[in-house]
Amino acid sequence: MPGFELFGESEKSQVQDVLDSGVLMRYGFDGMRNNHWKALELEEALTKRMDSKYAQLVSSGTAALTVALASAGVGAGDEVIMPTFTFVASFESILAIGAIPILVDVDETLTLSPKAVESAITDKTKVVMPVHMCGSMANLGALKVICDTHNLLLLEDACQAIGGSYNGKPLGSYGDLGCFSFDYVKTITCGEGGAIITNNETYKTNADHYSDHGHDHVGNNRGAETHPFLGYNFRISELHAAVGCAQIERLDDFLSIQKKNYTVLRDSLSPLKNITFRKVPTGGVENYSFLSFFLPNQEKAKAAHVALGEAGVDACFYWFDNNWHYYKEWEHLTSKRSLGKLPQEVVNQLPDYSESDFSKSDAWIGRTISCLVKLSWTEEEVVERASRMKGVLSKFS
Ligand SMILES: *Cc1c(COP(=O)(O)O)cnc(C)c1O
Repeated sequence: MPGFELFGESEKSQVQDVLDSGVLMRYGFDGMRNNHWKALELEEALTKRMDSKYAQLVSSGTAALTVALASAGVGAGDEVIMPTFTFVASFESILAIGAIPILVDVDETLTLSPKAVESAITDKTKVVMPVHMCGSMANLGALKVICDTHNLLLLEDACQAIGGSYNGKPLGSYGDLGCFSFDYVKTITCGEGGAIITNNETYKTNADHYSDHGHDHVGNNRGAETHPFLGYNFRISELHAAVGCAQIERLDDFLSIQKKNYTVLRDSLSPLKNITFRKVPTGGVENYSFLSFFLPNQEKAKAAHVALGEAGVDACFYWFDNNWHYYKEWEHLTSKRSLGKLPQEVVNQLPDYSESDFSKSDAWIGRTISCLVKLSWTEEEVVERASRMKGVLSKFS
């Protein structure tokens, strides 16, 4: 999935524009900047490609989630439903604004189980946050019905699935708000960066102000701007946005390379009776950044993962034991270990996750292996990898 594999002349030329003017900030300095507005340009490109009215760039994907929640008025004590299989950024962003991460099970889509979401709803629930892990999406249709019924916001974390779609809509654009990451290992990168997309003008205005200390951005004297509400600094720099301007132009090329490589791997494993593939909801198109599949049971999955590594098939992940992506290893969350005091709402309301039963998640994640699909492989390398994977996996029936 990583855009860093194909960093080249267009990225350099975009960055050079910024270096030539020396204006590294996205706001102000109008006279000096040779008309270069890289952050604005990238926001415009994102709205077009993602079929959304508004985009707000920020400093990271984690910042995007935080700003998205804040922009929609989510705050202390509000409950946000999120999956057990995700990246730690999900609960970090929720806790950052004093809200409560409510973990629920994933299903064979490796994303939020709509059933589990429904039974986790309380009168404090404000948001359902599906995370489109490893290039494929949650059952957004089912989640939207639940959100509409209970008057909840649908916030899509599309950080790992940029360019995928659901019922013809780009991932991130289906819910009330969608978030992307442009960190160094995502499908397209800014080095560091993130974005929020929405069709809601109020959320966009709030995100614009909140991510820049509450600046209202009226007029062109930064010092004279007013601050309608409290904010923070989640700004992206022009240098980072410039890299993104080049990368977004290449997104569709990257996706087609990923699809080609993914298809070779998948076709090779398809005949194996002991392998089944991760479920993609009807109407969904993956971004093909990973190939994820199930072994018959947990022991076999664990052993097959080791065997793949020994056979030189790198970049495959067994998430069940992973420090960053599965709830089992999030002991800092479970034991509420923070540097300073947590907000009282969090202390009072955060469930005791050491007592939780996520056996339904375990049953899927325990059997899952995901293999990264790279952009830089030659055709020969993909074919060779596919045949090695088949050889190894056929031994675990
Ligand atoms: C990478 C990622 C994030 C956070 O993005 P950063 O830019 O690294 O802060 C959030 N959610 C998911 C699912 C991710 O993979």
